[in-house]
Amino acid sequence: MQQNNSHTTDLWRSFIEVDGLHSAELKRRVFSFLAMSGIALVVFSGLLLANFQTYPWLLSITLLGALIAVFINVVIYFSTRQLKYCSIGIALTVLLLSILLVYTGGKENTALYWIMFYPVVVFTMLGVRFGLLLTALAIGAIAFQLYGPDFGQANYGHVEKSRFLSGFSLVVFFAFISEYFRDKSHQAITNITYNQKQKANTDALTGLPNRRFIDAIFLTKMEKNTAELLPMAVIMCDIDRFKAVNDNYGHDIGDKALMHIAKLMQNQLRYSDVVARYGGEEFIICLPHASMRQAVQIAEKLRKNIEEHPVNLESGENLALTASFGVAEVHSVVAFYNAVKQADEALYSAKRSGRNRVATL
Ligand code: GH3
Ligand code: MG
Ligand code: MG
Repeated sequence: MQQNNSHTTDLWRSFIEVDGLHSAELKRRVFSFLAMSGIALVVFSGLLLANFQTYPWLLSITLLGALIAVFINVVIYFSTRQLKYCSIGIALTVLLLSILLVYTGGKENTALYWIMFYPVVVFTMLGVRFGLLLTALAIGAIAFQLYGPDFGQANYGHVEKSRFLSGFSLVVFFAFISEYFRDKSHQAITNITYNQKQKANTDALTGLPNRRFIDAIFLTKMEKNTAELLPMAVIMCDIDRFKAVNDNYGHDIGDKALMHIAKLMQNQLRYSDVVARYGGEEFIICLPHASMRQAVQIAEKLRKNIEEHPVNLESGENLALTASFGVAEVHSVVAFYNAVKQADEALYSAKRSGRNRVATL
């Protein structure tokens, strides 16, 4: 891209969504959350029903509390769709349950077996940062119980304790590696897709959005967020006697003149306005929420700016350029191309009445 000023960069940020990739990632996280919650609900209630007569009372109460907490998190998720907070809620619930399970020993001191899966789940559900934080908390709390002072916790064999901690640390390590590189490659693919999409919708010469951008991305955005863009004014602009520029100065100077005009127009417009190269030496300018009167004023400002700023050629000569403009209004998405056609007709009436002017129908 030859021009990559802040206007263009912001424009791309606000328009290009890498929808497919973001929604695939979101689905993965939602699925992990729901799978984790569903399994927790089934396992907790199964254990509770099967063992509540033999469990220490503390374990039964903790399991019941965890069951209720998981259920509440799922209900909150379905009513608020706050995936991250609900995932943290579930992960913390399971962490607390694990710590208490290790404290009581569980059935016949089997508590430690249940904790092994925890790193995989938190890294999958919450990503690298929360994964590291929560598993570090788990390792700290469990190591404290296994090797710390006696405060009534269950007793585990010496070999069992050291094997558990090494096994658990290895699971943390591999869960981290897996999630870290999965996330990195996801980001890389997102960037590649974003850049390709940007390239496909950018005019290589001027760096402006191209016609495909208007036809696909801009119109889709208009359909999705109608109130953000409509009503709108459309300006069509065509450089006057541009063929003569090419004929008299050569194609390279013609290209330079196109870049010059693209930059002049971009610098005059607001962040929310879109200027695109619609054809060879034809530009379209979309002005969201501008009235016909405002749009005519803006077109007049652009016209004057082009007239007052010739292209400075390397030979020292100044190449004077002018352009003609046609303005129309858009009130609905389906009427967009009709308005473009009207603006085009207005533009040709500007050409017919002498060029270097702004016209409406
Ligand atoms: P009018 O005032 O009626 O618009 O006259 P015009 O000469 O501008 O109109 P016409 O449509 O006859 O010519 C447009 C010219 O624009 C023809 C073409 O060579 C030139 N052109 C289109 N795209 C490019 C480009 O990318 N680079 C250069 N240098 N010229 C281009
Ligand atoms: Mg022309
Ligand atoms: Mg033309």
